[in-house]
Amino acid sequence: MKRIALVIMSGLLSLTAFDGMSQNKNKVIAHRGAWKNTGATENSIGALEHAIKLGCYGSEFDVHMSADSVLYVLHDHSIKGTHIEKTNSQELSQIKLENGESLPTLEAYLKAGLKQKKTRLILEIKTSSMGKERSLALATKCVEMVKKLKAEKITDYIAFDFDVCLKVKQLAPKAHVEYLNGDKTPDEIAAAGLDGIDYHFNVFKKKEEYISEMRKKKLTTNVWTVNDEAMLKWFLEKDVDFITTNEPELLLSLSK
Ligand code: MG
Repeated sequence: MKRIALVIMSGLLSLTAFDGMSQNKNKVIAHRGAWKNTGATENSIGALEHAIKLGCYGSEFDVHMSADSVLYVLHDHSIKGTHIEKTNSQELSQIKLENGESLPTLEAYLKAGLKQKKTRLILEIKTSSMGKERSLALATKCVEMVKKLKAEKITDYIAFDFDVCLKVKQLAPKAHVEYLNGDKTPDEIAAAGLDGIDYHFNVFKKKEEYISEMRKKKLTTNVWTVNDEAMLKWFLEKDVDFITTNEPELLLSLSK
């Protein structure tokens, strides 16, 4: 019996070690995937696959909810004049992206991401244009989908709506959740039980001390969206944890 327990234990330990080793160790988060220099459409599964191929730490994408509560990956509220939140999935499923892909559902997108373990999926829960309740419903649906597909270990969450961040943390206490809107101090983030800040570069330029304050609290710093070489170098020098960029290739080369 003891021997069996030992075998199981060592198996679990090596699995944990393998997981740690398999994660890409860099600061690069491809903003809406790697699309700018690859010809892929932003927020397409193709753009995610390019970010994975590049070896990015993470690939960011945006999620909205259709009128009939199906989740779709897209940045804007509308595509080709069709408002996601006001349209049913039957109609949305007919829409093609510029690169010929169907407008991806969150389910299809996560399944593509789950083919690997090295690049994390950075899921942005968009703020609803139709009110707080719908933003919170979207947050709940996102967490449910991630759980259903067993994608918890490779998925992190970001949101502009503070209540959405709190909701995710309540539903998935182990999830890594970063707040985007730039108006909370490191103390407020820590008090709320969130895991990090993902702020616009202008916020960090004005509040450089946030970087060290967050580190002291063992919370993460992520900055969006930095594309300029000089600024990428500045943030590398300041040693933020992650840099979200449309230029993942450039940032990877600067990181070496
Ligand atoms: Mg986004």
